[in-house]
Amino acid sequence: MIISGKELASSLKQQMAAEVATFEERYGRVPHLAVILVGEDPGSVSYVTGKAKASAEVGIKNTTIRRPATISEEELLGIIAELNADDAVDGILVQLPLPKHIDSDKVIAAIDCSKDVDGFHPMNVAALWQKQPCVLPCTPKGIIKMLKVAGVDIAGKNAVVIGRSNIVGLPVSKLLLDENATVTMTHSRTKNLGEVTSKADILVVAIGRPKFVTADMVGDGAVVIDVGVNRDPETGKLCGDVDFAAIEPKASVITPVPGGVGPMTICCLMENTIECFLKKQA
Ligand code: NAP
Repeated sequence: MIISGKELASSLKQQMAAEVATFEERYGRVPHLAVILVGEDPGSVSYVTGKAKASAEVGIKNTTIRRPATISEEELLGIIAELNADDAVDGILVQLPLPKHIDSDKVIAAIDCSKDVDGFHPMNVAALWQKQPCVLPCTPKGIIKMLKVAGVDIAGKNAVVIGRSNIVGLPVSKLLLDENATVTMTHSRTKNLGEVTSKADILVVAIGRPKFVTADMVGDGAVVIDVGVNRDPETGKLCGDVDFAAIEPKASVITPVPGGVGPMTICCLMENTIECFLKKQA
């Protein structure tokens, strides 16, 4: 079974659009997402464009603030302070990565955590690890939704995550743990990685290396979630961290790249923006 994140995201966005269509009458306005793009990295430009398109589909107001890569940290923090103080802004997202002269951690921590739609603010991260209400990071949230829609019973399963980044590996491990999986976190220093991954009932791969996971690293019937977004060095086309063609026949469930985790990440960003908006109305 191939889970189409694209189709699932499309149906969830339709449901959100129907809900948002009632907001003008109920609350006098619609949710407003502010996205800050620093520089012109083609990957970042494409992500920001995707977020604006999804906002339009759902009926969320989107303001994209574009600044050159030469912007100072102080100036960027000033923009965030203005957005924090603006009651008409519900969500603030700073597209990462930022240029090297800017401290990303400082910038993320400067965002009002009630407007932190990415779920990267230290307060949201702490709340996640303490099982308190919080804004969940979009990619891990989307992964759990996909597993549930595919009917995967996570409880008691042996889940292996490759990668331990703050934005994917760590939080998805925590969400799988919260779903009562037995979670193994692996990384670049893990010994005998293939031996560990081949025992996984659920394998989540977030490394950033094209087709790194080969068929011999995956057990028969495993559920495989591919987070990676890479260029295939041979074809130049987008591909994941998993060798899809070789693994799809032996996996029980697998996500494609493109059209898998990526669209669900943007869909969850829309959901988080609506959640932040609604919390302010309560
Ligand atoms: P990252 O911050 O670069 O982290 C990569 C992780 O992979 C690190 O923990 C690293 O281990 C581990 N790793 C690297 N080489 C390895 C190896 N040979 N064996 C085992 N582990 C290895 O990357 P990220 O931000 O998590 O992103 C990962 C991928 O997902 C990228 O392709 C990114 O573009 C993609 N992504 C996609 C979405 C989406 O919505 N589809 C969202 C976010 C990210 P160490 O910690 O030991 O260095």
